[in-house]
Amino acid sequence: MGIVFLFITLISFLIFYFSHRKLINKNTEVIDSLEEKINISEDSLIKKKKILEHLPLEQEKTSFLVKLSQELIELDDPEDIFTFLLEAIKKLFPDFSFVSLYEFNKENHSLELIQSLKKQELTIKEKQGSEIERWMMRQNSSILIDDIRKDFRFDFSQIDGFTQRESLSFLASPLSVKEDFFGIIRIENKDSSFFSYDDLRSLSNICDLGAIVLQRAKLIKKVQELATTDSLTSLSLRNYFFEQVRVELERAKNLEAKVGMIMFDIDDFKNINDTHGHMVGDLVLKKLAKILKDLEESPQITICRYGGEEFVVLIADTSKKEVLTIAEDVRNKVADSAVSYRRNKVKFTISGGVVIYPDDENEFDKIFNLVDKIMYRAKEEGKNKICSFS
Ligand code: GH3
Ligand code: MG
Ligand code: MG
Repeated sequence: MGIVFLFITLISFLIFYFSHRKLINKNTEVIDSLEEKINISEDSLIKKKKILEHLPLEQEKTSFLVKLSQELIELDDPEDIFTFLLEAIKKLFPDFSFVSLYEFNKENHSLELIQSLKKQELTIKEKQGSEIERWMMRQNSSILIDDIRKDFRFDFSQIDGFTQRESLSFLASPLSVKEDFFGIIRIENKDSSFFSYDDLRSLSNICDLGAIVLQRAKLIKKVQELATTDSLTSLSLRNYFFEQVRVELERAKNLEAKVGMIMFDIDDFKNINDTHGHMVGDLVLKKLAKILKDLEESPQITICRYGGEEFVVLIADTSKKEVLTIAEDVRNKVADSAVSYRRNKVKFTISGGVVIYPDDENEFDKIFNLVDKIMYRAKEEGKNKICSFS
């Protein structure tokens, strides 16, 4: 009986299977494909979740960078820009052990530590940077070091960050716009693998922004220099000088101090040009400018190229005696000097007029006319001479 039942069951199953085989196969395919879809969507969900987890942070970082760039663009003094960048680093990487900012000195192609952030009292030895910075200067690229002991590029026993501060993780980025290199910012942490590639991107972004603003500051300075400095002699031009004189006279008025003004003019300069050529004329102008520039070592003294071959010297907090001594000294130095040109020595002289504020003249508008008039008296009296008001 049991065997008969089993047989009937088997037969019915076989009939059912063969009649539904197609359907069963089809369902398996559907299930497989659904399972695959679920797997794919689960995978993408995990990925999306990861993105979503990071999204608030990313958004924060982006708005931080936008705000940073808006505030940075207001700055045009490199020192302010460097300080601002370190403040930004402090906010974005609060868990730093040590941060150093190196400025690049173009003249001797070296780095100089100008600012740092430290969490402990220590004397910083790497004033010119370490192997890491030198590597970065060669590569002009950012760097992420998970564990300095395992980084084959560097000898960790030579890195003060490790030997002195026991840092293992390093993150650094150059402040550069293409070939224009301004410096390096380096962040350290005592733990290994402390920084991520995300951190590296954030630091690079800050440094890129900083470098653009530093480049802009450099250009602004250059434009200002061009507008206020004479290219032949590197002395101030008269427009800029007028402002300095105005400020100095105002200061002297408040302090009841004296200010001296000397106007020098090269004697027979036209003749020098006509005899030896304009180039020699230019060398003569440069020679006189150099002698005058030596005076500027004193913080009391400011000089300008007032006209073609006329120069004005302003001396703050002075006396008539001192001004006359300075004027005579310059006249003598010029008379003793010469410009060498094609084995020729071209000698020249100058004449000068001296005016003392407020004794001789107490109005800004009249002081230049007066000093010019007195200088011409020296010309009338035979040149190579200094004349004063009284
Ligand atoms: P004085 O002794 O009375 O001052 O006579 P001077 O010949 O020095 O004065 P003058 O004003 O007659 O001539 C000044 C000359 O300076 C005329 C001008 O061509 C020349 N000069 C002005 N600027 C420059 C310059 O940048 N380079 C050269 N080489 N010459 C210049
Ligand atoms: Mg002259
Ligand atoms: Mg003249």
